[in-house]
Amino acid sequence: MFDAILIEKPEANQTVSLTQVNPDQLPEGDVRVDVVYSTLNYKDALAITGISPVVRSFPMVPGIDFSGIVRESAHPEYKPGDRVILNGWGVGEKHWGGLAKQARVKGDWLVPLPDGLSLRQSMAIGTAGYTAMLCVQALERHGLRPEDGEIVVSGAAGGVGSVATALLAARGFEVAAVTGRMSEAAYLKSLGAATIIEREELSGKGRPLAKERWAGGIDVAGSQVLANMLSAIKYQGAVAACGLAAGMDLPATVAPFILRGVSLIGVDSVMCPLPDRQAAWAGLARDLDKSKLDAMTVEVPFSNVIETAPKFLKGNVRGRIVVPVA
Ligand code: NDP
Repeated sequence: MFDAILIEKPEANQTVSLTQVNPDQLPEGDVRVDVVYSTLNYKDALAITGISPVVRSFPMVPGIDFSGIVRESAHPEYKPGDRVILNGWGVGEKHWGGLAKQARVKGDWLVPLPDGLSLRQSMAIGTAGYTAMLCVQALERHGLRPEDGEIVVSGAAGGVGSVATALLAARGFEVAAVTGRMSEAAYLKSLGAATIIEREELSGKGRPLAKERWAGGIDVAGSQVLANMLSAIKYQGAVAACGLAAGMDLPATVAPFILRGVSLIGVDSVMCPLPDRQAAWAGLARDLDKSKLDAMTVEVPFSNVIETAPKFLKGNVRGRIVVPVA
């Protein structure tokens, strides 16, 4: 038997508990992993609180990512003792996830832990940080370079935003960090932000086209924030959009696209193909300043994850949460 957080839905309302699970109950998969670290992402907090229908089948172990050590494997690429990372693929949503001492998954979903990262650092980065890197790489693929101008990042004090800010600064970009918590201005500057913008400035209804202000953007908010960001992107710039912290809607016009050639690039981490994942993780291992990563990481004991989830959704967690599971 091993410890696991289990979400059950015997009736209309779900229940969540830290309980004991038998390895026989683990779902199908060709690799069994001893989980060493997991994390708490926005989606995990939604799953644990049940606020949004993230979990597709019950009972479910939440945790959309984990790092750990292979215990047994029938997959040609992995053998016992290998150190691995998993992000996404519906794990923690429709396949039991990382908030348990063991997981059984498809070997095709795993990424070998890159050189230069510890198991703990990989989960301090987690899905949020890996998504931040996918966003940075999307902007670079679009052709944006530091000399093109500032990049605006929303939700900058959150998980995706903190890592995006540090990564962009490491790659030589000037970062305009948007935050609803001006008390975190010093923290954001320590990550490399050049300018701090109050979230309120981007939250109200704006004009279809505003003054050209930023070369590009990374948006975790959606809704009015994304619409206002788009309207102030410079000619032929781009925004990588990955989140919906402000809402699922997008009250924008086509003006930035058809009058300024602005691009809106969607970023998904869940079904992202393996080569893109490996490139993102290699980039994180190489470019993310580990002292900045430490500064944005707090540890939450496995036994406190359930009570931490609602606080997370109130938006008052700074940076990243890492959960030691082993
Ligand atoms: P966090 O909760 O750590 O960060 C979100 C941040 O957004 C908050 O810290 C806050 O930052 C800001 N925020 C909160 N409410 C609002 C609002 N109403 N308007 C504008 N900004 C707001 O979450 P993550 O960083 O882990 O995830 C961010 C988003 O990205 C989520 O929507 C998540 O679902 C999504 N996501 C998507 C992925 C994908 O594959 N597409 C993968 C990972 C995450 P501040 O206080 O600085 O303003």
